[in-house]
Amino acid sequence: TYAVTGATGHLGRLVVEELLSRGVPAADVVAIARTPEKAGDLAERGVQVREGDYDRPDTLPSALDGVQRLLLVSGSEPGVRVPQHTAVIDAARAAGVQRIAYTSILNADDTTNPLAGEHQATEQVLRASGLAITLLRNGWYTENYTDRIAEYVERGEIVGAAAEGKVSAATRADFAGAAAGALLADDAAPGADGAAPVVVHELGGPAFTFAELASTISDVTGSPVAYRDLSVDAFAAELQQAGLDAGTAGFVAGIDAAIAAGDLQTDSDALVRLLGRPATPLADAVRVARG
Ligand code: NDP
Repeated sequence: TYAVTGATGHLGRLVVEELLSRGVPAADVVAIARTPEKAGDLAERGVQVREGDYDRPDTLPSALDGVQRLLLVSGSEPGVRVPQHTAVIDAARAAGVQRIAYTSILNADDTTNPLAGEHQATEQVLRASGLAITLLRNGWYTENYTDRIAEYVERGEIVGAAAEGKVSAATRADFAGAAAGALLADDAAPGADGAAPVVVHELGGPAFTFAELASTISDVTGSPVAYRDLSVDAFAAELQQAGLDAGTAGFVAGIDAAIAAGDLQTDSDALVRLLGRPATPLADAVRVARG
């Protein structure tokens, strides 16, 4: 039995779809949701829909009952995610789950990404749990950019501080395919010394700079979009002028600094291997986003 938390979110839903399309019987798929009513369509298709709320640990034992392999989709509320994830990991161990896969962040070992802290802390909790674990170190979603195409086209530019840094972004669907592939892979054997095996996948799609993102959007839309690169401080100042508070502006600019440092780039082919098909090219993702 395979279970996915956050099954009503963008990524979780796509993972459930991937498991079904790869031939897992619906009755062997558990969609864990904090709001099960949002998963009525999955229940109609025979998927086991169960309530599971990271903030209400009492919901987790029944959510995880009989589950062998679990995908823990990282929570969406920064600041509280380590206790939330720890609650799920503790409940999974108590329920006898054999392997937990977790959606971490690309290059978690040495990234400077300001969002990395909670993922690194969660990886430590997982390693200490004694369970077999799969670390799905996801890069950025292509949708982080394609969702903003209208804004980029209207302004005629993308502004940032990523310099020549590349982003190995992939679509949510591609990350979901890789997650399903990892969940299904036969890697549950115990380690040679009896230790629980830890599998690490650095996951990313075709890498692009922000200048390449801008030119791809220009080509696909026919509207000129240029990339304007600023220093990290100047970018933060411009974001503040646009209305962000100082903390948020520094945070957003800090992500670009991490991109400039190569922290969201990977040469790993793990995504394509686990996906079992080529990653979606950026131009295709831009085309799809344009409708
Ligand atoms: P979504 O916001 O679409 O989904 C998040 C899911 O987490 C939802 O199903 C939500 O439930 C669920 N969730 C949130 N809080 C709880 C809780 N307390 N208990 C149980 N479930 C909870 O995000 P995505 O699917 O797009 O992305 C998945 C995760 O990846 C994000 O949560 C975030 O950690 C991370 N992320 C990664 C990005 C990247 O570029 N790599 C970008 C953005 C996020 P509900 O449906 O009830 O709201």
